[in-house]
Amino acid sequence: MALIVQKYGGTSVGSAERIKAVADRVIRWKEKGNNIIVVVSAMSGETNRLLDLIAQLSDNGSARESDVVVSTGEQVTMGLLSLALEAKGCAACSYTGTQVKILTDSAYSKARILSIDENNLRADLNQGKVIVVAGFQGVDETGSITTLGRGGSDTTAVALAVALNANECQIYTDVDGVYTTDPRVVRNARHIPKLALEEMLEMASQGSKVLQIRAVEFAHKYDMPIRVLSSFDEGDNGKSTLVTREEDIMEKVLVRGVAFNRDEAQLTISGVPDQPGVAYKILSPIADANIEIDMIVQNVSSDGSTDFTFTVHRNDYDQAHGIICQLADNLRARECGGNKNIAKVSIVGVGMRSHAGVARTMFETLGKENINIRMISTSEIKVSVVIDEKYLELAVRSLHEGFGLDKEQQVLVD
Ligand code: ASP
Ligand code: MG
Repeated sequence: MALIVQKYGGTSVGSAERIKAVADRVIRWKEKGNNIIVVVSAMSGETNRLLDLIAQLSDNGSARESDVVVSTGEQVTMGLLSLALEAKGCAACSYTGTQVKILTDSAYSKARILSIDENNLRADLNQGKVIVVAGFQGVDETGSITTLGRGGSDTTAVALAVALNANECQIYTDVDGVYTTDPRVVRNARHIPKLALEEMLEMASQGSKVLQIRAVEFAHKYDMPIRVLSSFDEGDNGKSTLVTREEDIMEKVLVRGVAFNRDEAQLTISGVPDQPGVAYKILSPIADANIEIDMIVQNVSSDGSTDFTFTVHRNDYDQAHGIICQLADNLRARECGGNKNIAKVSIVGVGMRSHAGVARTMFETLGKENINIRMISTSEIKVSVVIDEKYLELAVRSLHEGFGLDKEQQVLVD
């Protein structure tokens, strides 16, 4: 018997009607002779509502108690879906993260999974039950409830699929897969039937919101294919995107997609002495404040001093700005500054590995549109640029067209 893990996101379980539709779908898959584990998100809007309540009662209260509150959304859904399944004559059993024993570290609100106890789940599967697991949550060594970060139900699903050696991990959402870019920005963005886990990893870290980054990291690490599907498709044969190992993809395209992110902000400390240890002195207080840094650029020095620029999440901008301005004095830097109104645009594709000239085409395309590039960073299969936020849409549209992503026949590489 095949084992399938299915995850349903917030909109897919957003009402009693939607939950009934999920129950019908689960039963269809079960009747085809599969064992099914379902992972559920909180009903749409619920996690935000809980976070809002927390914010009304506490400025920076205990992270432990916040996780106790935000984790409840998923518990409601898992119970409701189990009830819906039972009402339709399908035996089901629900589990919180603690009941499964999804053991995590104690980094509340962004905990990492350490291990999963599969024994209880196996016993219930053997009795023919559908298992419904609350996504997004786990338990630490001391028995405290933890949560896995926004969008963390994706990670729960992938982790369960890996732990139980599932045949497939299906992520049901409100779109029928991954597109060449966000269709809300580029109307003729194209559906991607199959892409490499590594490409998805870059797309997710560069701003594509379809799958949570950590989930893709997990899937990539353990070679677990993910299928993204829409729970709003009537039947079970609608479009989907398979995110799988690079070896399993016949068509290698030069550029798979254009991702973007408006959530970043740029900080610059200029005229710092060009001496060993300076980068460390600038970045370590930022890291100590638990602020994640994305891009880092340091200029070649001309007069014994250099400029240092990096980007952080926009929510961390004020704090990071405070830190570097304080440093500027100590380091005898010329000045510190920054910009909140930036955006990052990236092109991603495994084809870039073997083909030069992609960056040139990107810069040429942006230049023709008169879009100034503020920062550039590259990896083997990605080129990212930071630009003024007001040009974001124009940049995404022109790159999408410039790389032929709107065409049926894409540029293939061998
Ligand atoms: N409910 C959580 C969130 O909204 C986790 C999830 O849906 O994956 O982020
Ligand atoms: Mg989600």
